[in-house]
Amino acid sequence: SNAAQFGQCVEPLAIIALQIAQRLISALWCKKSFIFTASFTCVFVRTLSNPTKNSEDPLFRQTVKGQTVLQQVKAWAAGLWNLFLPAVSGLSQLDYAYIAEETGRCLFAPEVFNCQAPDTGNMEVLHMFGSEEQKRLWLQPLLKGEIRSCFCMTEPDVASSDATNIECTLDRDGDSYIINGKKWWISGIDCGDIMIQYYFLLHSHHSTILVPMDTLGVIRVRPLTVFGQDGTLFGLAVFVLHHCMRAVGLAEMALELLCERAASRRTFGKALYQHEVVAHWIAKCRLMIEQTRLLTLHAAHALDTKGSRAARKQIAMIKVAAAQMVCKVVDCAMQVYGGAGLSGDFPLAQMYAYARTLRLADGPDEVHLSSIAQLELRDQLKKAQAKL
Ligand SMILES: Cc1cc2nc3c(=O)[nH]c(=O)nc-3n(C[C@H](O)[C@H](O)[C@H](O)COP(=O)(O)OP(=O)(O)OC[C@H]3O[C@@H](n4cnc5c(N)ncnc54)[C@H](O)[C@@H]3O)c2cc1C
Repeated sequence: SNAAQFGQCVEPLAIIALQIAQRLISALWCKKSFIFTASFTCVFVRTLSNPTKNSEDPLFRQTVKGQTVLQQVKAWAAGLWNLFLPAVSGLSQLDYAYIAEETGRCLFAPEVFNCQAPDTGNMEVLHMFGSEEQKRLWLQPLLKGEIRSCFCMTEPDVASSDATNIECTLDRDGDSYIINGKKWWISGIDCGDIMIQYYFLLHSHHSTILVPMDTLGVIRVRPLTVFGQDGTLFGLAVFVLHHCMRAVGLAEMALELLCERAASRRTFGKALYQHEVVAHWIAKCRLMIEQTRLLTLHAAHALDTKGSRAARKQIAMIKVAAAQMVCKVVDCAMQVYGGAGLSGDFPLAQMYAYARTLRLADGPDEVHLSSIAQLELRDQLKKAQAKL
């Protein structure tokens, strides 16, 4: 029942169970018996997502859509589907943290398990606030993986890290609404069937609206690239905590790659790891990853036990810490790989591009730091008042 406490003990048993399940027993049996232990699920996730360290392998390439679809079928059959949504999976945020870390090791793994952004955030919103009709039309197909969605808030003409700047407007017109505005940086727009639009209503009121992509008047102007690459590779958006959990997995993967290279390459008569500076990078990366993992689990626990409002500070903290940590770790790995680290022959450049976007998407570091400071000052004030 408590993944943090029992995770370690369950894992060896889960590995044996997985072997038995693969050989003898149907996926259904294995779902019933083990699906709710996070460690077992992690073992299964690792087996299925099979992250590869060599970009030569076609599995690592996002473009191998066929592989993703094949693995989606396997994940669906094994019941490893929509694990992010507590109402569907029965998992807490803390349980899911371990799974998201595993999927973070491979950029396309979240899609295999229908746990990809921005669909996760949109499904959560529909689950919590959608009408029965909206759930039938949009939530059910999203949960089945039949359609995809996107979230549009950022606008090209205004600084969108300040939501009060948003200019897009919505006017009632009989039974319809007229939306007027421009959005950009819409992750998932290429394969989206609906979009959830964030718009300005009246006198600093903001709200959201569901817009099917084939609505008359929706015009897609141009695709954006990220670091010169196809922007569709970067499925980012709202669900902050899940990104942080995945960032820990991505950093683990980068450190693994770093250590392999440091052990196998030599300069000036010794292996790279024998140069003290490289050894210190390895140590510092391990420290940063462990610190961030604990902070992430703490935020997940706060979300489970106190709710999203009370966990605001923890979530803002982890948003900043995880993005900065994963950038630093991948950057160190790139340095150890030398020129190769920046090339397309290894996954690090692509990992860095993804990691770097985390410092901006869903709000830049600076805005979250300001929120943390504000909440800290509020807490300190409460403490001081309690003493009086
Ligand atoms: C790969 C990627 C995917 C994205 N996906 C989506 C998506 O799906 N949907 C969506 O709506 N948006 C998406 N975004 C957009 C992202 O959320 C915005 O870029 C971000 O919120 C910042 O808004 P902006 O670009 O308008 O920057 P601006 O608001 O113009 O801010 C520019 C800079 O000003 C500084 N700054 C701002 N406020 C403060 C402050 N209070 N204190 C100090 N400095 C400050 C920060 O350094 C900030 O980076 C995505 C972005 C990227 C890169």
